[in-house]
Amino acid sequence: MSDQLTGLESYEEFVPKLKKAVADMPEEACIAVVYSDIKHFKYFNDTFGYRRGNRLLARMAEMFSSGGDDFLCGARVVSDNIVCARFCFDGDKTIFLDEIKASIAYIEEVLRKEFMCERIRMTAGVFFIDAGVRGINVETAISNANLARKHSKLDGSDSVTLFLPEMATKIDNELEIISTIEDAIRNHELMAYYQPKIDSNSEKIVGAEALVRWIKPNGTMIYPDEFIPILEKSRQIIDVDYFIYNEVFAFLRDRLDRGERVVPVSMNVSRQHMKELEIIDYVRDLCETYKVPPKYLEFELTETMCTERTDRVMEFITAFHEMGIRVSMDDFGSGYSSLKLLSQIPIDVIKLDRCFLRSPELSEREKIIITSIVNMTKELKMCSLCEGVETSDQSSFLAGIGCDAQQGYYYSKPVRLDDFRNLLVAGCAR
Ligand code: C2E
Ligand code: MG
Ligand code: MG
Repeated sequence: MSDQLTGLESYEEFVPKLKKAVADMPEEACIAVVYSDIKHFKYFNDTFGYRRGNRLLARMAEMFSSGGDDFLCGARVVSDNIVCARFCFDGDKTIFLDEIKASIAYIEEVLRKEFMCERIRMTAGVFFIDAGVRGINVETAISNANLARKHSKLDGSDSVTLFLPEMATKIDNELEIISTIEDAIRNHELMAYYQPKIDSNSEKIVGAEALVRWIKPNGTMIYPDEFIPILEKSRQIIDVDYFIYNEVFAFLRDRLDRGERVVPVSMNVSRQHMKELEIIDYVRDLCETYKVPPKYLEFELTETMCTERTDRVMEFITAFHEMGIRVSMDDFGSGYSSLKLLSQIPIDVIKLDRCFLRSPELSEREKIIITSIVNMTKELKMCSLCEGVETSDQSSFLAGIGCDAQQGYYYSKPVRLDDFRNLLVAGCAR
């Protein structure tokens, strides 16, 4: 027993003990490695003080080790991370996992009562060592249980999570993205691609949307859906957005300097910007530096952002309107669109999500819905644009009902800057 705080073993003692238990394990039995911690332990310490935090850990450890005959050994790895090994005689993993879940729920319940704090929650990851994997290095088994715990946190759905082999790749992939993005920005692996926006009547290019692409040194392209959700969690998306804004401003400035035709370019805004709103000053500085007239700029907020952070979104729009910059609502109709929201938020453009055009041939019902949204935007004095236009039928239908603009593969996929320049010279994308 060498962890003074909890009375558990030290990690150095735990590993050989677990190794021995695995070696002695009967064929039909199995051992569960359970790696757990307390959610928001820092919050508990900050609120109630370290002494109480220490008592909480000691009590948690005590309950783990006195939980029953199946407890083999346990250790505090670091801070509030406690790992323990439990023995299952008949090796029925489904029942065993339920028991582990129940015992963790029980520990949580007791801790909440004893420490009079309803917010105490635990997270745990479980890895089973059975006859099939008894040759596994026990440290790998521990780190698998830890990965499952991290997964619980990322996922947020369940507080006890069983390890699955694909978790290793998923977390590896996330860590790889988080740890390489800064270099990628510095080394110009990120690029802005441009997707033209087409006027429904004239079929001429009247604008573009800048979309980020990550091109690895070996030439493979990573699409935003693969890395943006991860960078949104780590907040590094802010750097990515600023990088793209700089590219767009520099591109517009360059065309203005050459006296070439310029169309407005829209840029996406991550939900993370709504926390601090530092983006307002950032864009104001870009406008000063590049001296791009605001009529060539547009920023896209997603519908979900508008619903979740209406107050911040209002502040954002007011500031951007003061700068003379248009704001659009992206992916309209993909979430829980609230019509009330539209009456509150003075947005300039509604971008209908491509989910409205899922089928190449639109049904009558789909047509009615799209038509009424387009009519509504007109009455609200907003512009309408439909995303994801892939067929000529869809395009003529949209033109027929008076949807102002269109964006989609029917006209052009997002393209590299040079290709976009050529499209601008041609004036149209088909
Ligand atoms: P979004 O802003 O709604 O962009 C439209 C997405 O639809 C783009 O995907 C575009 O390539 C795709 N698309 C356009 N036309 C069609 C079509 O006809 N058919 C189909 N199937 N798809 C079409 P992409 O470039 O993969 O971007 C995905 C999302 O990632 C974007 O959705 C946007 O939310 C986000 N994103 C992209 N670039 C940035 C960025 O620089 N910053 C931030 N914060 N988000 C970005
Ligand atoms: Mg967009
Ligand atoms: Mg969109």
